[in-house]
Amino acid sequence: MSNADADLGCARCRLSETRTQVVPGAGDSSAALVFIGEAPGRDEDLKGAPFVGRAGKVLDGALAHAGISRDMIYITNLVKCRPPSNRRPKDDEVEACARHLEAEMGAIHPKIVCLLGQTVARNLLGCDSDMKSLVGKEFPLSIGGKKVRAFVAYHPAACLYRRENVESLRETVRRCTEAAGLR
Ligand code: SF4
Repeated sequence: MSNADADLGCARCRLSETRTQVVPGAGDSSAALVFIGEAPGRDEDLKGAPFVGRAGKVLDGALAHAGISRDMIYITNLVKCRPPSNRRPKDDEVEACARHLEAEMGAIHPKIVCLLGQTVARNLLGCDSDMKSLVGKEFPLSIGGKKVRAFVAYHPAACLYRRENVESLRETVRRCTEAAGLR
């Protein structure tokens, strides 16, 4: 589901009952580097765009630190509708929304994917390891009908109250940027 082909009326899971609107991915629709977050939060639900709240500012800071900007990348989420009270998306919701993410990735064909947070890593890599053992590491991933290189980073929201995670996020974003050939 990209801006170009977003299913803004999707009702494939229960999140459609509580959302304000579907939040499609945004950015360069032929980007070499794609960031995948967990789910829209309150600000994203109200504005209809991904990573526009406080966590988005943290991500913007990491992008700037790596010498790139949002118009050079694409940002989306595992599920496109806000879970109530910002709870984690449930497995059946992720499964229902997977077809949107697959279509999105199939249209973009990124070279590098940055997985933001443990929920995203668990669902896309199929592993239950803790973040400390995943963060900064590279994994092979098949998504959108193609094999890509995936890196795991702390979710920007996990940097809001743990400043020590910011440096780690910046370093992983910098590595993703280099691997994608953007710097
Ligand atoms: S989260 Fe995904 S599958 Fe569920 S209603 Fe929203 S767009 Fe559809």
